[in-house]
Amino acid sequence: MIRTTCPYCGVGCGLQVAADGSITGDPDHPANFGRLCAKGAALAETLAIGDRLMFPEIGGRRAGWDEALDLVAARFRATAAEHGPDAIAFYVSGQFLTEDYYVANKLAKGFIGTGNIDTNSRLCMASSVMGHIRAFGEDIVPGCYEDIELADLAILVGSNAAWCHPVLYQRLAAARAAHGTRIVVIDPRRTASCEIADLHLALRPGGDVALFAGLLVYLADHAALDAAWIKDRTTGFAAALATARQTAPTIAATAALLDIPAADLARFYDWFATTERTLTLYSQGVNQSSAGTDKVNAIINCHLATGRIGRPGMGPLSLTGQPNAMGGREVGGLATQLAAHMSFARPADRERVARFWGAPALAARPGLPAVALFDAVRDGQVKALWVLGTNPAASMPRANRVRAALAGCPFVVVSDCWPSDTSRFAHVVLPAAGWGEKDGTVTNSERRISRQRAFRPAPGEARPDWWMLAEVARRLGWANAFSYRSAADIFREHAALSAFENDGARRFDIGALAELSDAEYDALAPVQWPVPRATSPPAPSLRLLGGAQGFPTADGRANFVPTPLRWPVEPPLAASRPLLLNTGRVRDQWHTMTRTGRVPRLLLHRGEPLFEMHPDDAEALGLHDGGLARVESRHGAAVMRIRFVADQRRGSVFAPMHWSDAFSSAGPIDALVGGATDPVSGQPELKATPVRVTAVETRWRGFLLRRRATPLAGAFYWARVPVAEGHAYDLAGWTPLSESLSDAWVGALLDAPRQAELIAFADPGRGAFRYARLVDGRLDACLFLAAEDAFLPDRRGLAAMLDAAVEGAARSQLLAGLPAGSLAGDDPGPIVCACFAVGLKTLQRAIANDRLTTLAELGRALRAGTNCGSCRPELGEILARHRVEASPHAREPAN
Ligand code: SF4
Repeated sequence: MIRTTCPYCGVGCGLQVAADGSITGDPDHPANFGRLCAKGAALAETLAIGDRLMFPEIGGRRAGWDEALDLVAARFRATAAEHGPDAIAFYVSGQFLTEDYYVANKLAKGFIGTGNIDTNSRLCMASSVMGHIRAFGEDIVPGCYEDIELADLAILVGSNAAWCHPVLYQRLAAARAAHGTRIVVIDPRRTASCEIADLHLALRPGGDVALFAGLLVYLADHAALDAAWIKDRTTGFAAALATARQTAPTIAATAALLDIPAADLARFYDWFATTERTLTLYSQGVNQSSAGTDKVNAIINCHLATGRIGRPGMGPLSLTGQPNAMGGREVGGLATQLAAHMSFARPADRERVARFWGAPALAARPGLPAVALFDAVRDGQVKALWVLGTNPAASMPRANRVRAALAGCPFVVVSDCWPSDTSRFAHVVLPAAGWGEKDGTVTNSERRISRQRAFRPAPGEARPDWWMLAEVARRLGWANAFSYRSAADIFREHAALSAFENDGARRFDIGALAELSDAEYDALAPVQWPVPRATSPPAPSLRLLGGAQGFPTADGRANFVPTPLRWPVEPPLAASRPLLLNTGRVRDQWHTMTRTGRVPRLLLHRGEPLFEMHPDDAEALGLHDGGLARVESRHGAAVMRIRFVADQRRGSVFAPMHWSDAFSSAGPIDALVGGATDPVSGQPELKATPVRVTAVETRWRGFLLRRRATPLAGAFYWARVPVAEGHAYDLAGWTPLSESLSDAWVGALLDAPRQAELIAFADPGRGAFRYARLVDGRLDACLFLAAEDAFLPDRRGLAAMLDAAVEGAARSQLLAGLPAGSLAGDDPGPIVCACFAVGLKTLQRAIANDRLTTLAELGRALRAGTNCGSCRPELGEILARHRVEASPHAREPAN
């Protein structure tokens, strides 16, 4: 049994990998105590080699490591010589292990001398980093996960934890069930997280600063401040309160500003004022904002005003999106930071880092944050770019502009595990060892450092990122400084730097880990920082900033920060783009789906990028639930499938961030998202892009089944999901099928080898066309098109036939769309429980027929919700909806 850590979200769940390859939650890991969500539970299914990058490539041809690394080093050397070090840039990843991150930063900032190394964590939690630094003097998360169980009031702000941090949500739900934790959700959307909420404040998008400014005013006006604590431990309260009063002078004014009922706002303020153990958990709805840092500080201000910080069950707790966003912060992963929580702004820090590394040319100034970095690539200031472990061509705002920048960049290196939207632009592709294939550490949202351990060999010639970075450094003449033999070597150096000339001024100190032997590093148990030298073993759960030590600021006091209100888009919205687009995650997918998009069952919950709108907004535009619509912003456009969602706030629309153009014609949604950034953190606004939506009439629909995935292009909509022996594409078009339908068009979609045999059927009167291609008598591809859904068979049965021998009567049955015995059983409907493939229709039938009323009964009857629990909020909603429909006067929480 090998213990390791989940590679997805910032919860940082511990895993156990058995000798047979099965993966379960680690019962001893303090993040999850054995729990996993659907994504974590499906990790074993992501390990197939498939189309992994296995060998270095130069210009699309296979190359050896030496040739590829020599070329990278030569081009970097020439670029620096001709244009200076700032013409070289790196764009790295919160998926990196800390050791990868450390080496990348040391090479870029210390030796090449460019500050231009930023990370996709800029898009994730840079605003939290800056909020912490402004308030506390250092990027410190004061609390820990144990506070979830100890809080009496838990506030989720801009966080759909039920889908994005599912295991923490499960801990919160369990705490509520055990001792009645009161829960408030602050989010423009009613999300799955609201299932266990006592109160949901569906505020106007971007109104968080006003809401917490109003809370600060309320605390001041209702004698709920901790005046002694403010006086002894903080500075700047009066200015922050004065600014808050300008924004939110009264409850009525604040409620009007936020467009929520004043009574609900007053209830929340009262609960906060009267509940000592109050925990505020916040995530991307706060961070991914052009006012993200102010939002963070508006929250922290209220905790400082009540002295509720760093003590059991209370404080602000930022939930990081990525598995190692926190580890990146420790090594200076952001372009604007130095390693080990040191700062470009302090000359002594720069000198200390340079001396520790023996760095010849430490970057003189911070580099460019992500959005500005890709602008610099586009403008030609950056001439050599190395992208590691991330996919900016799909995930960056204004993605089309980023693609143009990559296409125009003279030298692009991409290291990754799989081909991606970004690797298409690379001059050199380097195959990276992935999760389960390399060693290192990650740090989760509660500052807990956990080991990721290798449990399988890397395929082909794939290597860890730190190795390739060190090899390039060696070729550039810095062999001694990058002579690492292992991840353990790097970790020891990283730990030593954290303690180097650290007299306690920097709380990030893991000096006690600097002398770990290789065996001790290998066995390292999860541990929260700080772990300075010469301390007794740290407590199981560490809180910071609540004790007598004070804050790591110049005067030892925390700072209140005035937070004037700035809307992401000043109301009212222009009539030409009257809706605000919010982007975010769905339950079972991760980032741009390079890993989760390979697991059929993770696409059963959401198989395409649904564009969610309130039914009233949609119907006013003549849209149909399940129909197509064109969505346009200033930056791009996409045709998407519309989903009516009554929980969506009117005027706001939502689209998932995951689908790239490898999975759908509608991806990536970031092609539509603008490039506005927070002025303090540089984090882009991903939650409020003005868009216009217009109906698109569907003239035909259909599906394509293929053994091999293929890029599709044309004036039609498609979305791909993996199936057992291939890929299924749902298709829909808005031009007459007769305009598209030609032998060449059909041939391009089916794209089978020459020796393939084509079977075709056409009924032009009903607009129905069916094709199947057999290769060596086996079904290789089929294409079904029809003017109406009624003329399309259920594709599940045909999908099950892919790669099967088709002989005799089965050939005619094939085009009838009804392979013998393939559709036995009732249609399960859209899958809700991914672990046991339980669909909505199955649930509805069981609830109605067997009179099921509780989650426990559903679990016993269908197993739904009994494994990872990620679907339990939706199961609760389905039960509640059934109760309301059966008896319109009853709505009680399920348990
Ligand atoms: Fe992985 Fe899910 Fe745990 Fe996040 S909550 S670390 S995705 S298992």
